[in-house]
Amino acid sequence: MLPVLLFFVAHWQISVFFQTFFLHRYGAHKQFTMSKGWERFFFLCTYIAQGSSFLSPRGYAILHRMHHAYSDTEKDPHSPLFYKNVFTMMLATKKRYDAFAYYRETAEPRFEADLPSWPLLEKIGQNWAARLAWIGVYTAFYVHFATSPWLFALLPAHFIMGPIHGAIVNWCGHKYGYRNYQSKDVSRNTLFFDFLTAGELFQNNHHEFSMSPNFAARRFEIDPTYPAIVLLDKLGIIHIATPQRMRYPRRPESETELETPVAAE
Ligand SMILES: [Zn+2]
Ligand SMILES: [Zn+2]
Repeated sequence: MLPVLLFFVAHWQISVFFQTFFLHRYGAHKQFTMSKGWERFFFLCTYIAQGSSFLSPRGYAILHRMHHAYSDTEKDPHSPLFYKNVFTMMLATKKRYDAFAYYRETAEPRFEADLPSWPLLEKIGQNWAARLAWIGVYTAFYVHFATSPWLFALLPAHFIMGPIHGAIVNWCGHKYGYRNYQSKDVSRNTLFFDFLTAGELFQNNHHEFSMSPNFAARRFEIDPTYPAIVLLDKLGIIHIATPQRMRYPRRPESETELETPVAAE
């Protein structure tokens, strides 16, 4: 039983880490910069971590930039205000995501700017045979290590790990929890210590200070990804691009500094 549970927790955590670190904070917001070589390295890590449910940085970043620009309005690609449940919201999100990820549609130029791109790996990641191969790997692990048939109930989560994290963040982060800032949208902070989605559930903080690499604003809030970002910056692997810091309470004199660059609106 233990190997299966460890595999589940490890896959969950590694997958959500690369989603928040690479796809979100780097790909969509460019909160930090890195060399082309490191970009490829983390791109590959993201593919391996997400496996069968790989999300292309292009599809993710365009959708996410639209989410910030139109948060909780009708043009927001995934606001829980407009859907009965998380499943209908995610199906609609997938449709929009596919249009951009598979290059069927182009977005407003500001959403298309400066996206991490690696055509070969995108092709492999989106190839159905490759997706099925990953599903085979997960299943083989369970067949080998599962000691009870009940454990197989966890298996499908591995197949769609990336979208599960997206669904939790997009639904809960705009529905459940408390607000530190009176933003125009309905974003919320769902947990004090976001061990579940590596800091992503500080949606209210993040919508207010979208260029801060630390998603935690108050003393009791912990964003577990931020220490990793600081470490990578200290090691010279990435460079934190902006000095923007969370402020709680928000001070009026900081208004001008807080204007978000166009691409990260
Ligand atoms: Zn949001
Ligand atoms: Zn964001």
